[in-house]
Amino acid sequence: MKVYKFGGASINNLERIKNTGKIIQQHAGEKLLVVVSAMGKTTNALESVVNAFFEGRQEDALKLFEGIKENHLQLVKFLTTVQWLHAENQLKDFFTEIEWLLHDKPVRGYDYYYDQIVCCGELFSSSLLCNYLVEEKANATWIDVRDVIRTDNNFRDAGIDWDFTEKNIAENISPLFDKYDVIITQGFIGSTDENESTTLGREGSDYTAAIFANLLKADSVTIWKDVEAVMSADPKVFPSATNIHHLSYTEVIEMAYYGAQVIHPKTIKPLQNKNIPLLVKSFLDPTLEGTVIDGKAAKNLPPVIVVKDNQVLIQFKSKDFSFVEDKPVEQLHGIYDNIKISPNLSQNTAISLLCCFDDKEEKIAQLASDASEIFDVELEKNLSLITIRHYDEATIDLLTNDKVVVLQQKTMTTVQMLIRN
Ligand code: ASP
Ligand code: MG
Repeated sequence: MKVYKFGGASINNLERIKNTGKIIQQHAGEKLLVVVSAMGKTTNALESVVNAFFEGRQEDALKLFEGIKENHLQLVKFLTTVQWLHAENQLKDFFTEIEWLLHDKPVRGYDYYYDQIVCCGELFSSSLLCNYLVEEKANATWIDVRDVIRTDNNFRDAGIDWDFTEKNIAENISPLFDKYDVIITQGFIGSTDENESTTLGREGSDYTAAIFANLLKADSVTIWKDVEAVMSADPKVFPSATNIHHLSYTEVIEMAYYGAQVIHPKTIKPLQNKNIPLLVKSFLDPTLEGTVIDGKAAKNLPPVIVVKDNQVLIQFKSKDFSFVEDKPVEQLHGIYDNIKISPNLSQNTAISLLCCFDDKEEKIAQLASDASEIFDVELEKNLSLITIRHYDEATIDLLTNDKVVVLQQKTMTTVQMLIRN
């Protein structure tokens, strides 16, 4: 069997849902577990609902939610006839669950409510897609992934209970393939042992696909995207970016670590551990070659460029000219742990430490304030961190031409440069 993952862009309107349905039906004979994200920008819209609810703007929350409901109800009308009543009722059951909650007042933490509300985007989209497939006579069934993927209660970044989930999948999912060709379920969400919904972190649907593939010992995972293949850089910024048709797990995990938006960083480990290939294919033109990611070393890679904007460089300098040794560094790491922040790049000098972070304002302000007890702290904002894997001098020149490099680190394979904009 195979695992397919369809992201929000592959189902963001009528035509795209039909197209996704067609791709699934063409491959249904291979037994598919299909993981879907929420439609288009639904997750962002649901985040606005959460914010309104949590700030006590109940009317706004309900109104925003109304818009999301309408959008899905419209699509159900266009996509189903025989299945219509069933499809609409299923959606309405989900709506009721959320609206009950929205009528209450928040008494628990933000992250808890975030997960209880935001999880519905995937429930809506998967229900829509499955009902459409059944309408089209596919031998498909829908499951609520919250009955399968068990997590801890670290809301918004929940950790998987692998043993429990494995048992669930063996008992409840594998036998379903005796009866059905296609199982449709949700990415990104799970549930605790107290039946509270959880989410796995933004863009986490890729990770869900990898969890299922690992535990079902799938032949492969295919992530269907609106790109032809994984590229050497963002083509909107670097028009000379090229498609890469083969990458190793190591290469991709490194790219994701440095900030490439290709695939959710947690996706690779479950696949690498069972040696399951990951395919990236275009849902707009499935005949294109796409990218294969597996355990074989990739050869002759072009320079791969990853850019992270909105970086801040912080200099932690010793107050009394003493060397920056173990003790203050340890204290600083204590502060990082506390704030849940970690540097993207760091470098020592005799009496100072230079570290670059994503500029999340609240966290950075907290960090600067806490660290000022130990160090003199200086900040520079509005920087970009450019990472080039498999660099050559020409690419470095191209990217640093008439720019100021404030920090640089080079290994045999990778150069990182922090650049003033
Ligand atoms: N819908 C979620 C998000 O937008 C999960 C995903 O797309 O993978 O973050
Ligand atoms: Mg997505």
